[in-house]
Amino acid sequence: MQILPRQVERLVEEFSKLPGIGPKSASRLVFYLLKSSDEDLQGFATAVGKLKESLTTCSSCFNIAETNPCVICKDTERDSKILCVVEEPLDVVAMEQTRGFHGLYHVLGGVISPLNNVRPQDLRIQELVNRVATTGVSEIIIATNPNLEGEATAMYISAALKEHSVRLSKLAGGLPVGSDLEYTDQLTLSLALENRKEFKGSRN
Ligand code: ZN
Repeated sequence: MQILPRQVERLVEEFSKLPGIGPKSASRLVFYLLKSSDEDLQGFATAVGKLKESLTTCSSCFNIAETNPCVICKDTERDSKILCVVEEPLDVVAMEQTRGFHGLYHVLGGVISPLNNVRPQDLRIQELVNRVATTGVSEIIIATNPNLEGEATAMYISAALKEHSVRLSKLAGGLPVGSDLEYTDQLTLSLALENRKEFKGSRN
Protein backbone atom coordinates (compact mmCIF):
# COMPACT_ATOMS: atom_id res chain seq x y z
CA MET A 1 0.00 0.00 0.00
CA GLN A 2 1.25 3.42 -0.94
CA ILE A 3 0.97 5.54 2.21
CA LEU A 4 2.29 8.83 0.88
CA PRO A 5 1.11 10.36 -2.38
CA ARG A 6 3.45 9.47 -5.20
CA GLN A 7 4.71 13.05 -5.81
CA VAL A 8 5.57 13.41 -2.12
CA GLU A 9 7.59 10.19 -2.16
CA ARG A 10 9.27 11.24 -5.38
CA LEU A 11 10.52 14.49 -3.82
CA VAL A 12 11.63 12.66 -0.66
CA GLU A 13 13.70 10.42 -2.93
CA GLU A 14 15.25 13.41 -4.69
CA PHE A 15 16.20 15.10 -1.41
CA SER A 16 17.64 11.82 -0.09
CA LYS A 17 20.19 11.90 -2.91
CA LEU A 18 21.74 15.09 -1.50
CA PRO A 19 24.89 14.74 0.63
CA GLY A 20 24.19 14.60 4.34
CA ILE A 21 20.44 14.17 3.89
CA GLY A 22 18.96 10.89 5.09
CA PRO A 23 15.38 9.74 4.42
CA LYS A 24 14.18 11.31 7.68
CA SER A 25 15.57 14.76 6.95
CA ALA A 26 14.33 14.43 3.38
CA SER A 27 10.77 13.81 4.59
CA ARG A 28 11.01 16.75 6.95
CA LEU A 29 12.11 19.03 4.12
CA VAL A 30 9.30 17.87 1.85
CA PHE A 31 6.67 18.38 4.54
CA TYR A 32 8.09 21.81 5.18
CA LEU A 33 7.72 22.61 1.50
CA LEU A 34 4.12 21.32 1.55
CA LYS A 35 3.29 24.07 4.01
CA SER A 36 4.93 26.79 1.91
CA SER A 37 2.99 29.17 -0.33
CA ASP A 38 2.69 28.41 -4.04
CA GLU A 39 4.82 31.46 -4.69
CA ASP A 40 7.66 30.26 -2.47
CA LEU A 41 7.51 26.82 -4.06
CA GLN A 42 7.67 28.35 -7.55
CA GLY A 43 10.67 30.43 -6.49
CA PHE A 44 12.41 27.33 -5.14
CA ALA A 45 11.67 25.32 -8.28
CA THR A 46 12.88 28.12 -10.54
CA ALA A 47 16.11 28.53 -8.59
CA VAL A 48 16.81 24.78 -8.94
CA GLY A 49 15.77 24.71 -12.59
CA LYS A 50 18.00 27.62 -13.54
CA LEU A 51 20.94 26.62 -11.36
CA LYS A 52 23.22 25.73 -14.23
CA GLU A 53 21.86 28.26 -16.66
CA SER A 54 24.46 30.87 -17.62
CA LEU A 55 27.09 29.23 -15.42
CA THR A 56 30.46 28.52 -16.90
CA THR A 57 33.87 27.28 -15.84
CA CYS A 58 36.72 29.76 -15.77
CA SER A 59 39.23 28.50 -18.34
CA SER A 60 42.08 29.83 -16.24
CA CYS A 61 41.36 28.66 -12.68
CA PHE A 62 38.50 26.19 -13.37
CA ASN A 63 36.24 27.71 -10.76
CA ILE A 64 32.52 27.93 -11.52
CA ALA A 65 31.70 31.41 -12.67
CA GLU A 66 29.28 33.69 -14.46
CA THR A 67 32.00 35.03 -16.72
CA ASN A 68 35.14 33.60 -18.28
CA PRO A 69 37.65 34.57 -16.97
CA CYS A 70 36.03 34.69 -13.56
CA VAL A 71 35.88 37.78 -11.32
CA ILE A 72 38.89 36.60 -9.30
CA CYS A 73 41.12 35.96 -12.33
CA LYS A 74 40.01 39.30 -13.83
CA ASP A 75 40.87 41.26 -10.68
CA THR A 76 44.07 43.19 -11.46
CA GLU A 77 44.58 43.98 -7.76
CA ARG A 78 45.32 40.33 -7.06
CA ASP A 79 48.79 38.82 -7.21
CA SER A 80 48.87 36.55 -10.25
CA LYS A 81 52.25 35.13 -9.17
CA ILE A 82 50.75 33.17 -6.28
CA LEU A 83 48.36 30.30 -6.87
CA CYS A 84 46.35 28.48 -4.23
CA VAL A 85 45.48 24.97 -5.37
CA VAL A 86 42.18 23.69 -3.98
CA GLU A 87 39.97 20.67 -4.55
CA GLU A 88 36.57 22.26 -5.14
CA PRO A 89 34.90 25.64 -5.74
CA LEU A 90 33.61 25.66 -2.13
CA ASP A 91 37.23 25.67 -0.94
CA VAL A 92 37.74 28.93 -2.85
CA VAL A 93 34.86 30.36 -0.84
CA ALA A 94 36.47 29.15 2.41
CA MET A 95 39.84 30.67 1.47
CA GLU A 96 38.25 33.96 0.39
CA GLN A 97 36.46 34.22 3.72
CA THR A 98 39.81 34.29 5.52
CA ARG A 99 40.60 37.52 3.57
CA GLY A 100 44.22 36.48 3.99
CA PHE A 101 44.90 35.32 0.45
CA HIS A 102 45.30 37.74 -2.42
CA GLY A 103 46.62 35.53 -5.18
CA LEU A 104 44.72 33.46 -7.72
CA TYR A 105 43.27 29.95 -7.47
CA HIS A 106 43.48 26.67 -9.30
CA VAL A 107 40.53 24.34 -8.78
CA LEU A 108 41.49 20.69 -9.28
CA GLY A 109 37.98 19.32 -9.47
CA GLY A 110 38.57 16.66 -6.79
CA VAL A 111 41.41 14.56 -5.43
CA ILE A 112 43.22 11.48 -6.64
CA SER A 113 41.23 8.56 -5.30
CA PRO A 114 41.78 5.03 -6.59
CA LEU A 115 38.77 3.88 -4.55
CA ASN A 116 36.48 6.26 -6.39
CA ASN A 117 38.22 5.76 -9.71
CA VAL A 118 39.60 9.29 -9.83
CA ARG A 119 42.96 9.33 -11.59
CA PRO A 120 45.40 12.26 -11.90
CA GLN A 121 44.33 12.78 -15.50
CA ASP A 122 40.73 13.26 -14.33
CA LEU A 123 41.82 16.37 -12.42
CA ARG A 124 43.19 19.72 -13.62
CA ILE A 125 46.78 18.81 -12.73
CA GLN A 126 48.21 18.99 -16.24
CA GLU A 127 46.43 22.33 -16.62
CA LEU A 128 48.20 23.47 -13.46
CA VAL A 129 51.59 22.42 -14.82
CA ASN A 130 50.83 24.24 -18.10
CA ARG A 131 49.75 27.30 -16.18
CA VAL A 132 52.98 27.35 -14.22
CA ALA A 133 54.99 26.84 -17.42
CA THR A 134 53.27 29.60 -19.39
CA THR A 135 52.54 32.28 -16.80
CA GLY A 136 54.85 33.89 -14.28
CA VAL A 137 53.72 31.90 -11.25
CA SER A 138 56.38 31.93 -8.53
CA GLU A 139 54.57 30.38 -5.57
CA ILE A 140 52.02 27.64 -5.19
CA ILE A 141 50.16 26.96 -1.99
CA ILE A 142 48.63 23.52 -1.97
CA ALA A 143 45.42 23.62 0.02
CA THR A 144 44.00 20.16 -0.46
CA ASN A 145 42.08 18.72 2.49
CA PRO A 146 44.19 17.31 5.36
CA ASN A 147 43.31 13.67 4.76
CA LEU A 148 44.95 10.73 3.01
CA GLU A 149 43.67 11.54 -0.47
CA GLY A 150 44.41 15.25 -0.10
CA GLU A 151 47.98 14.48 1.02
CA ALA A 152 48.53 12.00 -1.82
CA THR A 153 47.27 14.56 -4.33
CA ALA A 154 49.59 17.21 -2.87
CA MET A 155 52.55 14.80 -3.28
CA TYR A 156 51.57 14.05 -6.85
CA ILE A 157 51.36 17.76 -7.69
CA SER A 158 54.72 18.41 -6.10
CA ALA A 159 56.28 15.68 -8.24
CA ALA A 160 54.55 16.98 -11.38
CA LEU A 161 56.01 20.43 -10.78
CA LYS A 162 59.55 19.42 -9.87
CA GLU A 163 60.98 20.62 -13.21
CA HIS A 164 59.67 24.10 -12.54
CA SER A 165 61.35 26.61 -10.29
CA VAL A 166 58.35 27.51 -8.22
CA ARG A 167 58.09 27.81 -4.46
CA LEU A 168 55.76 25.11 -3.16
CA SER A 169 54.12 25.29 0.20
CA LYS A 170 51.13 23.74 1.87
CA LEU A 171 48.78 24.81 4.59
CA ALA A 172 50.31 24.37 8.03
CA GLY A 173 49.24 21.75 10.54
CA GLY A 174 46.55 22.73 12.96
CA LEU A 175 43.85 21.82 10.52
CA PRO A 176 42.13 18.82 12.07
CA VAL A 177 43.26 15.67 10.26
CA GLY A 178 40.51 14.24 8.10
CA SER A 179 38.63 17.53 8.12
CA ASP A 180 37.20 19.39 5.17
CA LEU A 181 38.56 22.81 4.27
CA GLU A 182 35.10 24.13 3.53
CA TYR A 183 33.96 23.39 7.08
CA THR A 184 37.08 24.72 8.80
CA ASP A 185 36.54 27.92 10.74
CA GLN A 186 38.07 31.09 9.33
CA LEU A 187 40.59 31.66 12.11
CA THR A 188 42.05 28.14 11.87
CA LEU A 189 42.26 28.45 8.11
CA SER A 190 43.85 31.92 8.30
CA LEU A 191 46.51 30.60 10.66
CA ALA A 192 47.16 27.58 8.46
CA LEU A 193 47.62 29.93 5.52
CA GLU A 194 49.86 32.33 7.40
CA ASN A 195 52.07 29.54 8.76
CA ARG A 196 52.19 27.57 5.55
CA LYS A 197 55.13 25.19 5.31
CA GLU A 198 57.50 24.73 2.44
CA PHE A 199 56.50 21.52 0.78
CA LYS A 200 59.29 19.13 -0.08
CA GLY A 201 57.02 16.32 -1.21
CA SER A 202 58.74 13.67 -3.28
CA ARG A 203 61.78 15.83 -3.99
CA ASN A 204 63.39 14.62 -0.79
ZN1 ZN B 1 39.23 32.14 -12.76
